Amino acid sequence: MLEARDVSLTYTAGGVRTYAVHHVDLRVSRGEFCGIMGPSGNGKSSLLYLLSGLRAPTGGTVLYEGRDYRALGARGLADLRRRHFGFVFQQHFLIGYLTALENVMLAGGPGSKREAMALLARLGLGECLHRFPHQLSGGQRQRVAVARALVSRPRVVFADEPTASLDRQSAQEVVSALEEYHRAGGTVILVTHDPGVLRGADRVLTMQGGRLSAG
Ligand code: ADP
Repeated sequence: MLEARDVSLTYTAGGVRTYAVHHVDLRVSRGEFCGIMGPSGNGKSSLLYLLSGLRAPTGGTVLYEGRDYRALGARGLADLRRRHFGFVFQQHFLIGYLTALENVMLAGGPGSKREAMALLARLGLGECLHRFPHQLSGGQRQRVAVARALVSRPRVVFADEPTASLDRQSAQEVVSALEEYHRAGGTVILVTHDPGVLRGADRVLTMQGGRLSAG
């Protein structure tokens, strides 16, 4: 479904080239929950950006259902992300002057109210629909962010340290929400430095120095 072939991402600073991602190959199947683990600074976020088309690799190829991102062009890629991908980041990026429900509906588009309400209720936020982000706990805010990522019924959810700023309990709530999406057939690619977050993953890979390895 999603495939990276020999992808690299390099940065050049002061004439020195360093690899954030070093010749990585990865295939993620439809419906798979793939975890990518490793300490900070090892290229996990960079790889996630490449896989989701948020960044272009400096070498190699990324394909979604056989389609090369490079051939899609910027517009095609933006369209692919909008239609098929959902994102959860460490920070929730909710809009402060919109309620929880409005934040989710904004991502779902016209006619998404019912779906947004159902999703928020499933994530245990049925009582919080009309609260603003500052009236929610950290865990609740991040669950709204998960609902926002899921409301357009994406095929793949990319999660970049989604629990890093949360306490244990809130982190577990967010992970459960992603696990439920996975159980319903969704594909999850989650990067984290915390192995506890990946108990429900089908496969856990480790990233070190930009290189990806099993286990
Ligand atoms: P992780 O997600 O594992 O913390 P990152 O993908 O954020 O790792 O970073 C991998 C490496 O790439 C780090 O050494 C980081 O300093 C470097 N890096 C990331 N972004 C940039 C950038 N814009 N310019 C230069 N180096 C960068």
